[in-house]
Amino acid sequence: MNILGIETSCDETSAAVLKNGRVASNIISSQLIHKAYGGVVPELASREHERLIVSIVDRAVNEANIQKNDLDIIAATAGPGLIGAVMVGLCFAQGLAYALKKPLVPVNHIEAHIFSGFIQEDPEHQAPEDNFISLTVSGGHTMLCVVDNDLHYRVIGRTIDDAAGEAFDKTGKMLGLDYPAGPLIDKLSKEGNADFHTFPRALTAQSRTSKSYRDNFDFSFSGLKTSVLNYINNHEPEFIEQHLPDIAASIQEAIISVLVEKTVAAALKYNIGAISVAGGVSANSGLRHKMETSCAKHGIRLFVPKAVYSTDNAAMIATLASLKLSRGLVKPNNYDVAPFASFEYS
Ligand code: ATP
Ligand code: MG
Ligand code: FE
Repeated sequence: MNILGIETSCDETSAAVLKNGRVASNIISSQLIHKAYGGVVPELASREHERLIVSIVDRAVNEANIQKNDLDIIAATAGPGLIGAVMVGLCFAQGLAYALKKPLVPVNHIEAHIFSGFIQEDPEHQAPEDNFISLTVSGGHTMLCVVDNDLHYRVIGRTIDDAAGEAFDKTGKMLGLDYPAGPLIDKLSKEGNADFHTFPRALTAQSRTSKSYRDNFDFSFSGLKTSVLNYINNHEPEFIEQHLPDIAASIQEAIISVLVEKTVAAALKYNIGAISVAGGVSANSGLRHKMETSCAKHGIRLFVPKAVYSTDNAAMIATLASLKLSRGLVKPNNYDVAPFASFEYS
C-alpha cells in the first residue's frame, strides 16, 4: 500500500510517501522567509505553502519511484496549526484525493508527533509492545500522555502557559539569536557551563514556593522567560555577550531538567517501562542525553525519533494514518479543520 502524507501546519512544507509502512521519501522545505520577523508570520506561511506544495508533492512521489495513480491513500494534517497554513495542505490533499478517486485521511499533527518515534526506517524505531509515557515537546505544545497499545492516550499534564520550544525561541530572541533559537541554544550550550546561573524550574519539587508539586505533571515556562529578561536587564551587554554560552547552557538546563524530572516521575508513578519523546525539542542534544541517563538509571526503555522526524515532517503524518488504518481506527473522508488541539477527528 502507498500512502502520501502532507504536512503544512506551520512553517515546514512537507510531503512523504510510505510504501507498505516504510518511508520511501520525505521531502521537507523549511520556510526561511520568517527569520527577518523573529517568528512565524501566519499569512506569509500560507503563501509559501501555496507556492511550494505542488513541487514538494511531485518530488515526494518521484523520489518514491511511483506515479500519483499508484497512491492508495492521501493523508494530510488537519490541525492543530496555523489555520491558513493547515487549509493549504488539506485543500490540496482534498483536491488530489478527488482527482485520483482515492480516500483522504485527516491526521492530527500532535498525535503524529506522539508516534514519530516509531516511524519505520531502521529496526531501532519499533513501536513498544506495551504502554508508554509520551512527552511531546514542540513549538506550540508541551504534553505528557499515557499511551496504551490501542493507540489511545490520556493527557496527564501539559503546559499552563508557554511551550518548551517557545521557551527556547523566546529566551533565545532576548539573547539576540535568530528564529528558531532552539537549535542555536543547543549548539551554544555545548561550550557553556550549565551551572553558571540557576534559572527557575516551575511546578517541580524544588520550585521556590511552599506548595509541593511532586505529583503534578503540568509545566510552566513563562516565569523562566521573565527571569531571563530580568537577568539580561540587570547585567551589562558586554557581560551577556562574553557569557553567552554559559547563559544559553543555564537556560537549556532549566528547561530540560524539568522535562526529564516530570517524564521519569510519570513513568514511575504509572509503573510504565517505556518513554517516548517527540516534537522539535526532542532534537535537543542535552535533553536526549539527560533523558537517556535518567532512563538507564531507572531501567526505562527510551524511544526518540531521528532528528529529521523530531521537527515537522510528512513521514509522521503518513505513518500515523498507516498505523490507524491498519488497526481499523480511522474512517477516511470524515474530517474537519481546527487551529486548536482537538483529538476527535477519527
Ligand atoms: P507544534 O508541533 O506544537 O504545532 P511546531 O510544529 O512549530 O509546533 P516543531 O516543528 O515540532 O513545532 O518544533 C519546532 C520547535 O522545536 C521550535 O521551537 C524549535 O526551536 C525547537 N527545536 C528544534 N530543534 C531544537 C533543538 N536542538 N533544541 C531545542 N529546541 C529545538
Ligand atoms: Mg517549524
Ligand atoms: Fe509540530
